[in-house]
Amino acid sequence: MPAIEFPPIDIPAHPAAAPVPIMPIETGEYDYIVVGAGAAGSIVAAKAAAAGYQVLLVDIGTAVPASDEDAWDPTRWYKMLANPDFEMGFHSTPQANLVNTDLAPGRVAQMLQSRGLGGCQLHNAMVYVRGGRSTYDHWARQGCAGWDYESLVPHFKEIERTLGIVTAEQDEFSQSFLDAYERLGLPYNGSYNTGPSEYGAVPFQFTIEKTADGRLRRTTSFEKFVGAAELPTLTIATGVYVRRFFTDDDGRGIEYNSPAGEHMRVYARREVILSAGAIVSPAILLRSGIGPADALSDCGIPLLHDLPQVGRNFYDDLGCGFPVLVKSPLPDTPYGFVGAGVFACESGSAPSDPPAFGEINLEVQISTSKLPGAPDSYGIRYCLIGCSAMHLASRGTVELDPRKPFGRPIVNPMWLTAEGDMDRCLAAMKLAHDIASDPALIEQWDWWVPPEELVVCEEWVRLSGTTVQHYVGSCQMGPDAGTSVVGPDLRVHGVPNLRVIDASVAPTPVTGNTAGVAMVIGAKGAELLLNGD
Ligand SMILES: Cc1cc2nc3c(=O)[nH]c(=O)nc-3n(C[C@H](O)[C@H](O)[C@H](O)COP(=O)(O)OP(=O)(O)OC[C@H]3O[C@@H](n4cnc5c(N)ncnc54)[C@H](O)[C@@H]3O)c2cc1C
Repeated sequence: MPAIEFPPIDIPAHPAAAPVPIMPIETGEYDYIVVGAGAAGSIVAAKAAAAGYQVLLVDIGTAVPASDEDAWDPTRWYKMLANPDFEMGFHSTPQANLVNTDLAPGRVAQMLQSRGLGGCQLHNAMVYVRGGRSTYDHWARQGCAGWDYESLVPHFKEIERTLGIVTAEQDEFSQSFLDAYERLGLPYNGSYNTGPSEYGAVPFQFTIEKTADGRLRRTTSFEKFVGAAELPTLTIATGVYVRRFFTDDDGRGIEYNSPAGEHMRVYARREVILSAGAIVSPAILLRSGIGPADALSDCGIPLLHDLPQVGRNFYDDLGCGFPVLVKSPLPDTPYGFVGAGVFACESGSAPSDPPAFGEINLEVQISTSKLPGAPDSYGIRYCLIGCSAMHLASRGTVELDPRKPFGRPIVNPMWLTAEGDMDRCLAAMKLAHDIASDPALIEQWDWWVPPEELVVCEEWVRLSGTTVQHYVGSCQMGPDAGTSVVGPDLRVHGVPNLRVIDASVAPTPVTGNTAGVAMVIGAKGAELLLNGD
């Protein structure tokens, strides 16, 4: 990932308890206020509005013009990442277990988080993964009734119909990877999303549609659930920085900064829904006085409800890998990644049947420097052999900065702090190295493949390991307020009329990339809301 410098977002500091004028957005009469028009929030807002409720959908970002090729052309997502207009510019705290290029510990990772109508689906790599049958069945077994995989299948099907999902067509280049994976003993699995298991060598599916003129185009849940529907009951407000949820004698609502910088309030007759993603949703709860009492006191925020788990349990997979130089010219890749990937097991052997929860814990994605905007600063043509270690044991935090609680949240993924995680990352590096060393693939490389002892070692994991932007868990769902933030109905424990509906409620990591789980949480969350659950 290239180092990108983002200008700071101008987030004015303001004491939480200060009185603010009540100045509703437009009519001011809303049943539901949804905060965040991303993968999940767009679905919630569209479904609530389609059911006849007056809905206000607010987002800190803006709309992306239909003419913006960087946004909609699937191959140009690196260019979109570099566009500060659509990026929040968050960073991790210095990570004790990641090293800089001078091998000094304390590397800071860019925690990319899009802003705009579409959320992170505006600049993600579009790989579509439901998230693994065993993931959701595990949630249900842990007390999240209704979240088992079979109950979610109708929602997945609706999402897939609505967004349009393409399965990668293989060209000579991507086929050479699929063949290599099979030579490594990974069976071809053409239905990793709908079959019994994700395991194997897979043709990736992407949230991409084929237009009438045959071009490929990125899709987002905002565009397909909100934009494509005519919803007179939906009001969309952009450039709105939501500061916190509040309650008073007249009801509940949100406090926000308008695009003009005014500090205002708007009320929701029924509920406020936080869908601002796994970094910002817990931060909004904390700014609202909902979280660990001692931490809120340190920030000078009046306590609304003591809920110790807010911002705990933050999780991100760790991606490792290395580049190999490729004989020029590299072929064009029509998708965000080479269309052939892998889901594998750390053990190196096939999973049980059906796979146990967490057993499939490695995912391979290959990117190339041919993609416009990809890091190519030396004019070198290369493939990045990337392997994510999934279902890691480390858990991090999202907290407020006591010096500036309304500024950027402090994100600490705490990678490699739990026992066993380094071994899983070493297994990821071994798989990446085995792939790069495949005898037929080597024919394509212009350069040596790094010796195994150079990259399959702790030092290389610490040097190359970084976020893969699979943020989940910071407002985890569960039946018990002592160990979770929202119940299986996604209502915040102990706070009426407030739900969180986005990737942050996932109580455990999923098996794969996270837009799929965010969208299914949006769809299931809307069902719960509309059923009055
Ligand atoms: C670079 C990158 C690549 C990725 N690649 C993939 C991939 O290939 N496949 C995949 O499945 N997943 C991928 N992901 C992850 C996936 O996109 C996210 O998991 C998913 O979008 C999360 O959905 P969400 O609804 O929880 O949050 P988001 O989609 O992030 O939506 C949050 C929304 O809240 C808004 N918001 C935030 N703060 C405020 C505030 N204070 N006030 C008002 N609005 C606010 C934001 O503008 C945004 O629209 C990638 C993510 C990134 C960053």
